[in-house]
Amino acid sequence: MRIASGGVQHETNTFSKIPTTLADFVRDSNCGATLAGGETIFDRFRGTGSIHGGYISGAEAAGFELVPLLCARAQPSGLVEEAAFDTMLNWFLERLEIAKPVDGVLLDLHGAMVAEHHEDAEGAFIAAVRDVVGREIPIVVTLDLHANISARMAELSDVIIGFDTYPHVDMQERGHEAAELIARIVRQEISPVQEFRQLPLITLPPKQCTLRDPMQTLMQRVHQLEQEPGVLTATVAMGFPFADIRDTGVSILVTTDGDAELASSKANELASWLWELRDDLQPELTTIEDVIAHVNAHPNDGLVIFADGSDNPGGGAPCDGTVALHAMINADFQDGAVGVLFDPETAAQAHRAGVGATIPVRLGGKTDNLHGAPVERDAYVRVLSDGKYRYRGPMMQGVQDNLGLTATLVIGGVDVVVSSQRRQCFDAEMLRIAGVDPTGRRLLVLKSAVHFRADFGPLASRIFDADTPGIHRPDLAAFDFQKIRRPVYPLDPVDTF
Ligand SMILES: [Zn+2]
Repeated sequence: MRIASGGVQHETNTFSKIPTTLADFVRDSNCGATLAGGETIFDRFRGTGSIHGGYISGAEAAGFELVPLLCARAQPSGLVEEAAFDTMLNWFLERLEIAKPVDGVLLDLHGAMVAEHHEDAEGAFIAAVRDVVGREIPIVVTLDLHANISARMAELSDVIIGFDTYPHVDMQERGHEAAELIARIVRQEISPVQEFRQLPLITLPPKQCTLRDPMQTLMQRVHQLEQEPGVLTATVAMGFPFADIRDTGVSILVTTDGDAELASSKANELASWLWELRDDLQPELTTIEDVIAHVNAHPNDGLVIFADGSDNPGGGAPCDGTVALHAMINADFQDGAVGVLFDPETAAQAHRAGVGATIPVRLGGKTDNLHGAPVERDAYVRVLSDGKYRYRGPMMQGVQDNLGLTATLVIGGVDVVVSSQRRQCFDAEMLRIAGVDPTGRRLLVLKSAVHFRADFGPLASRIFDADTPGIHRPDLAAFDFQKIRRPVYPLDPVDTF
């Protein structure tokens, strides 16, 4: 049995002004200029907490040959350029033709990609693959929990399996599940029937977190549902809200073994559970001034984290927002840290000056005028780093990544880790390589909405979701939606679905 695998992953923030180019995919994928498949993919992902890590272990467990064709991903940002999408899709299709005959295809997609010419980019990707392999060859798709799943994606795939966790710590498990499932389909041991429901509901990152209620309890119920006789798998996609497209929002899928009626009734059940939670899924936000007051009032509580989700590069935000940093400096706050702030110009300036120098900086706030003004101060260069690291926490464990040239600058009582690549700070290793030990701090500002909770959560006495401005602000009132299907809760009053 031969199963082809691969795909293009991108979470597109349509409110971002930064277009996503082929060069971005080449830089962030670490698979060479033509995004090599084959051994490059095995070397990069074998044994890691990634989807392809799971495809590889699942292929070994199920005893089939995995043929990885392409594994492209770019940091979340604005619309994917037409040429970038078409080039990568063509590479995938050409390699698929060469790999034929294959018995099935595993697609490693995100589910919230928007290209200049395809609002539903994954739908277009799956359709093109379907055209090459035909209706008889199974296509099993893995998607992020933030997928905005369209009816077309569900229609064209045999099974969609989404992540069950946010922070996404189950990528390897879901990849493994998909690989074992496709092997059973090819061996005709099962005959999947997938039921899809889109809810008139849009939700925001802080409360999509599966380490907190109501999602924690909901996911326990989903796992119980998956154990029921005849049910093969179930998925809750909470959606990526920072995309003004028709399919933005919550959807669910239930797949049974040949029983359409069961799939339909279980899908209705699952959809109604989610619908009942709609008011509990709205986040509560706190200003940096209130958090500073809290820290000063509780001097012995240990580390407090300010989750600056509005500037989360993991959802396409610039990662150079300065609102929290300005407030900390103005309050003369001591023992604070900010990680990671993207500013390649300032990182390079610090590297030229060297450790121990004091330099006049114009730090952050350069991508746009929505995330605070640059900080213009003298900064002390405390640590310099090449920015290379490996994820050590529960998410993407073992995968190598790179912040580019990195400098830890001290401004007043605050250490700022300044990077040359946009990266969401969800692993403490990203600060350790820059000489910042989070446990020794009173207040840590992280450019992350939820993922940081997997690794940093156990270190914190208290976590606040930030009330800051930005294109990833968890507040629907901050965005002008034109294309999303209406009515949708909570933008519109919706009593039922
Ligand atoms: Zn996600």
